[in-house]
Amino acid sequence: MKSKLHSLLFLGLLTGTSLRPVQDDPLLQKARQIHQRVLTLDTHADAPIMMQKPGFDVGVAHDTKRDQSQIDFPRMKQGRMDAMFFAVYTSQGPRTPEGHANAKASALRQFELIHEAVKKHADQAELATTPADAYRIEKAGKRAVFIGMENGYPIGDDLSMLRKYYDLGCRYVTLTHFANNLIGDSSTDPDGPLHNGLSDFGKKVVVEMNRLGILIDVSHVADKTFYDALALSKAPVIASHSNARALCDFPRNMTDDMIRAIAARGGVVQVNFVSDYLRKPSDAHRAAKTKIRMARVGREMTPELEARITAQSDSVSKVYASERASLSDIADHIDHIVKIAGIDHVGIGSDFDGGGGVNGLEDVSQIENLTVELLRRKYSEDDIRKIWGGNLLRVLGKAKAL
Ligand SMILES: [Zn+2]
Repeated sequence: MKSKLHSLLFLGLLTGTSLRPVQDDPLLQKARQIHQRVLTLDTHADAPIMMQKPGFDVGVAHDTKRDQSQIDFPRMKQGRMDAMFFAVYTSQGPRTPEGHANAKASALRQFELIHEAVKKHADQAELATTPADAYRIEKAGKRAVFIGMENGYPIGDDLSMLRKYYDLGCRYVTLTHFANNLIGDSSTDPDGPLHNGLSDFGKKVVVEMNRLGILIDVSHVADKTFYDALALSKAPVIASHSNARALCDFPRNMTDDMIRAIAARGGVVQVNFVSDYLRKPSDAHRAAKTKIRMARVGREMTPELEARITAQSDSVSKVYASERASLSDIADHIDHIVKIAGIDHVGIGSDFDGGGGVNGLEDVSQIENLTVELLRRKYSEDDIRKIWGGNLLRVLGKAKAL
């Protein structure tokens, strides 16, 4: 007993992991083997939020709790996560020339940070823009870093920016975030719709994205914006991090009809790990969260304000800890999408570092726990390959519509 404990401790030292009593679980062993064989991909990683913090190095392992960080290259490797879309994210501010200039500067800085990080850690990661890149980088034993843009706000009113972002590696744009922008209406703008769906400018954006080969991401958009974009796009669309409204009723989640419509056009819905979008919180919990979320909208973020919001958010999490979602909630959403749309139209977009994380899945090093849950539910290796990236890479290969 003692010697076994010692050898486990030694293994822990060797691999740099903490002692995990579930090491001997046959399903975990099986999940590990599957992760060795299949390419695993996550379409929504907010690592750039952390990368903008002074001193944060994505090439070094962090402590999830102490460092409030869920993604870095060493932990991706530990969890056998092969590829992630790092999101160039800007919160929605004023729809003014100054607001757009600030958003553009922030976006360009984030592209630069991502490029610098993969250059600095060329032994660990590489930038990817195509499915072939991802498979090649995975074979080389490195992490593939794709880039997506969450919120089309940095496009402003200048269509030519799309070309610029494409050239910098951007392969999807989430049309809106929590509030309306010049492209279209968001599902959560407190002021309600502004354009009645996709704006005239938004229509041009969709056409230009099709032309360049940037995927249209409908996560966060209002239902009307969704249907407008879907009707217009000549390429399949994705929801980079969205769950099923049938299981968790919230405007940010997708109805069964929307999920089926994405599938009918060959696209994919990537399930996220955000507790509020997996399991409906109580009204009081929802109200407290909304208040915190809206504190960021339209405001210039200072370190003091950020710290205050983080502290408020922590205390809300503590008060409502019993309502936090678990691994089985994620699998329930996957099951539901498979049931109504088929195994070829579901994937994963964690939202780690942006609100993702459930009981049993706290950071990228633990993603095999989700595969264990999928195995428990009798998904085959081929199903898991599709869920963990195969479907998304199929769609990415069709992003360019001539
Ligand atoms: Zn988001």
